[in-house]
Amino acid sequence: MRYKGFDCRVLKESGTQAYIEVDRGNEYERGWVNKTEIEDYNYVQTLMKIAECNDCGMPYGSDDWIDTVLSNEQWKMICPNDALLCANCIIKRASKLDGITIAKMELIF
Ligand SMILES: [Zn+2]
Repeated sequence: MRYKGFDCRVLKESGTQAYIEVDRGNEYERGWVNKTEIEDYNYVQTLMKIAECNDCGMPYGSDDWIDTVLSNEQWKMICPNDALLCANCIIKRASKLDGITIAKMELIF
């Protein structure tokens, strides 16, 4: 998705507003914007509705879905086939990797 010429992603939604993270190249900026200001928003929303967790089937974007951030290296170890996973299934898969003992979390509102 694009917002005013920059790549962005939607972190949460409320009515006509979306809370987005804008990639400004060397920094990320977050804030509430009107959904109509986001290019490709409707297209992406359609994709989100049909996407689901590869392991448990939870629909992407449902109320129980929490976006999760991992390094590329960690993601390749957990999900080599690059499927879509919910946070719960990411932890389940990570718990089966050698040497993984803890998952540190930061909750962002
Ligand atoms: Zn899942």
